[in-house]
Amino acid sequence: MLYGALEAGGTKMVCALGDENGKILEQVSIPTTTPEETMPKIIEYFKDKDIKSIGVACFGPIDLDKNSKTYGYITSTPKTAWMNYDIVGCIKNALNVPVGFDTDVNGSLLGEITWGCAKGLTDAIYLTIGTGVGGGVMSNGKLLHGMMHPEVGHMIISKSQNDKGNSLCPFHDSCLEGLAAGPSIEARWGKKAKDLADTMEVWKLEAEYIGTALVNCCMILSPQKIILGGGVMHQMQLFPLIREYFKKAMNGYIKTELLENLDEYIVPASLNDDQGIMGAIKLAIDAE
Ligand code: ADP
Ligand code: ZN
Repeated sequence: MLYGALEAGGTKMVCALGDENGKILEQVSIPTTTPEETMPKIIEYFKDKDIKSIGVACFGPIDLDKNSKTYGYITSTPKTAWMNYDIVGCIKNALNVPVGFDTDVNGSLLGEITWGCAKGLTDAIYLTIGTGVGGGVMSNGKLLHGMMHPEVGHMIISKSQNDKGNSLCPFHDSCLEGLAAGPSIEARWGKKAKDLADTMEVWKLEAEYIGTALVNCCMILSPQKIILGGGVMHQMQLFPLIREYFKKAMNGYIKTELLENLDEYIVPASLNDDQGIMGAIKLAIDAE
């Protein structure tokens, strides 16, 4: 069986064909410009491929409420060309197959839960720390949508006393994305994040912000595992620092077996940066 998968991102659209085991059979990448220019290329790729259904893991904010008139739309995104754009409608009309739809980060989490390091878990969180910060949540075996969908990246956290930088978020003086996304690191330290690998104070501060956010996630959502992906998390030295900060901030309050081994609790994404597109394959399978 052949499934279509689209990982819709702010800079590129990854289109792939996959099978029921999450195997990616082929994939192409199309730059994200405007819907008028980008969508016809996506449709062109999938048409005549005989896919059973398609899964779309999409940048947001998006409307996931099936009872809403704007279900399947990208809504209030800062990428203005895509604001109020009916991405699901466009795909459905053109390809006439069932469309599964969720956030990019819920997609990545679904990939990890189905085929990766969180296999079989019912409660887990996936955080991406990249150009922005986003979080996908599964709670009681269901991807969490709620009123809209979680916006984990915009949780308010305190700015560290040692931090001479500023939040880059246009909405919040002191949110996780504004303080800890890749562009914030680069603005604060005046260098590309990957060129700061050896500067310990960069990663200590970064671990303080991410560690704080993870304690908040843990207190509110009680996940069985926390998975961290995105470009910034390629700095593997962050993992022990985040675990250390998490432990210190948690201060022994929650006592469970899972928290006794933080190496297994706070982990890197395990699917070789394919978690998003594999999650989109699973969205397609579930939409069939
Ligand atoms: P996106 O979030 O746009 O999908 P990425 O997850 O690759 O893409 O994130 C890109 C951001 O991650 C850039 O802003 C950059 O600062 C940062 N980044 C990318 N690669 C690395 C790396 N090896 N080390 C540290 N930071 C990185
Ligand atoms: Zn914010």
